[in-house]
Amino acid sequence: MLSKDNDKMKISQQEMDHIFYLNRQLTKLKVAQNEGGRKQIFVSHSRKDQEGKDFINSLTGTGPGNVKAFYYSFEGETPPHSTRLKEEMVKSMSVFLLKSSIENSWTASWINYEVGLAHGIGKNIWVFENPRNNNASFPIPYVTAYIQRPERLERRDVFPYNKIIDVAGMSNPKDISENGQELTEFTCTNEECKAKYFIWLIDVNKKFRCPVCGKEMVLK
Ligand SMILES: [Zn+2]
Repeated sequence: MLSKDNDKMKISQQEMDHIFYLNRQLTKLKVAQNEGGRKQIFVSHSRKDQEGKDFINSLTGTGPGNVKAFYYSFEGETPPHSTRLKEEMVKSMSVFLLKSSIENSWTASWINYEVGLAHGIGKNIWVFENPRNNNASFPIPYVTAYIQRPERLERRDVFPYNKIIDVAGMSNPKDISENGQELTEFTCTNEECKAKYFIWLIDVNKKFRCPVCGKEMVLK
């Protein structure tokens, strides 16, 4: 009897897609109303990761047509933090997570809270990592795409960073392409993980650590 009722409660993929669609429409509306049409991305980061912030800032800008990066700082904000974080998350088109050497488990916990919240309300989660600084090993439960990045960009129009920022991260990673270049769809080969996400690698040996389970992967 109970299992029958549980079946009724299940949400189909089609319904989930519709929820995500509605959320996207709502996000567009909120952006249009609140930000004068300026799109916002929520950047989930460690306070000490200045290099990561500089990287994002080289893609975003302060002009009227630019994408605005929102960084939450626990020092300057009025508690309770979860309320304000949620408000800013809802207003954002997507979440950009800067993976770096996280200084403590406290930061990792907040980043995981932000990722869970973002996934729950249907936002894309783009994980950016500098492969030269990849010793952060905390798991990220849900990832839309894992993007390796250089230390810094000399110019803004470098694929795929330019394309991802142009749509404020709010498109299917399949649609991110330029001159035949595109992100690769990947399934983690760890039997206990099997997470699916898109990847962009700059490491010459095509090595990376699965952002979900932390196991070393090589793209064949
Ligand atoms: Zn994995």
